[in-house]
Amino acid sequence: METILFLAHTETDGSLGKPALEALGAAKALSDALAGSPLVVGLFGADVQSAAAAVATCGATKILAVAGADFAASRYATDAAAAEALAKTAGATLVIAAGTSRLLRCLPGVAARLGGRANTHVTGLAAGEGKVTVNRWYYRQRMEGAFTRVQRPWFIVLDPGSQPAWQGAPGHATVETVAVTLPDSAKRTTVAGFREPAADAQTIRPDAALLFVAGAGWTKKQADGQTHVPDAEKLIREFLQLTRASLGSSKSLVDLGGEGQAVLSFLSHLNQIGQTGATPRHPRGLSACCHGEEPHTVGWRFVNERRAISLDPNCGWARGKADVLYVADAFAVMAKVNELLKSAAGA
Ligand SMILES: Cc1cc2nc3c(=O)[nH]c(=O)nc-3n(C[C@H](O)[C@H](O)[C@H](O)COP(=O)(O)OP(=O)(O)OC[C@H]3O[C@@H](n4cnc5c(N)ncnc54)[C@H](O)[C@@H]3O)c2cc1C
Repeated sequence: METILFLAHTETDGSLGKPALEALGAAKALSDALAGSPLVVGLFGADVQSAAAAVATCGATKILAVAGADFAASRYATDAAAAEALAKTAGATLVIAAGTSRLLRCLPGVAARLGGRANTHVTGLAAGEGKVTVNRWYYRQRMEGAFTRVQRPWFIVLDPGSQPAWQGAPGHATVETVAVTLPDSAKRTTVAGFREPAADAQTIRPDAALLFVAGAGWTKKQADGQTHVPDAEKLIREFLQLTRASLGSSKSLVDLGGEGQAVLSFLSHLNQIGQTGATPRHPRGLSACCHGEEPHTVGWRFVNERRAISLDPNCGWARGKADVLYVADAFAVMAKVNELLKSAAGA
């Protein structure tokens, strides 16, 4: 028998993000699968009332909250204090939370304070014979492991995108406030504001149906002996605008910037996919001008349908890394694709 706490912070508009609703779905499924294991909701943020109402019908035995201006912004000391108070008040043995940057930062520390354990990047959660088993990937998504733990409280932090989101009608929520007294030392850090790219310059879109990956080939000399980087920029930008795809990159392409070579101006290391980059979860992926080497394609582990355009018929994509390889000039292919997309949009 466990006491399961679904723990979440509110977003700036007071709502719960999709990753939080995914964690709630997993927590609820676990509570249903483990006989006599109640689900408790624990929320923190500036004002939690609308978030509480949104999840009021999830079947939780109670909704606990730490609320106030001190808990509005992401800050280790106050986030950890809120999470600790909620876990203690709930008497939680299992804490299920989403792997947002805010929670990934503080929950391992909270687990240590409470004498428990934390596992991050969890992608699967199951209960059988009264035991909870979690799954996660190791060695840059090459091996999957399943394990259980005896230590409690056990903080299970789920990778966003790995679980179906909880869906349910909003309702009337009775929120029990948990008081947290903060020492001044917990408030030394202040958030001055956010600096982020303009909406149309934001090329990383985790929820996009398509991942478009650009490789170093876009910057290489082409058949006419010249490079065509401005053309590459234009084609890629246009494709992203037309499809709202997320933009990924090979390491070679993002590294070129550091070497002083001509590169695509809207790429940074944050776009890098692969062993030392990201492992996104898009239903489909299209790679262009990339060789499809193992350290790159390992980042495609969770992309369901993979296609690639490369001039090289012996590239990695042709060796089992892609479902479809178009051996073709990506400049010509993408120009044609954009033309078709534009005429489809105009039709
Ligand atoms: C420890 C380690 C970690 C690494 N981690 C990563 C990682 O996280 N991510 C990553 O990406 N790499 C990583 N790498 C590097 C990786 O091994 C490759 O070097 C890199 O992925 C190559 O990038 P690329 O395919 O874009 O470039 P290239 O190897 O230069 O390939 C360019 C391709 O473009 C094609 N091309 C050129 N012009 C056209 C055209 N007009 N139309 C179509 N195709 C064209 C060429 O035929 C070629 O196949 C790592 C390497 C190491 C050693």
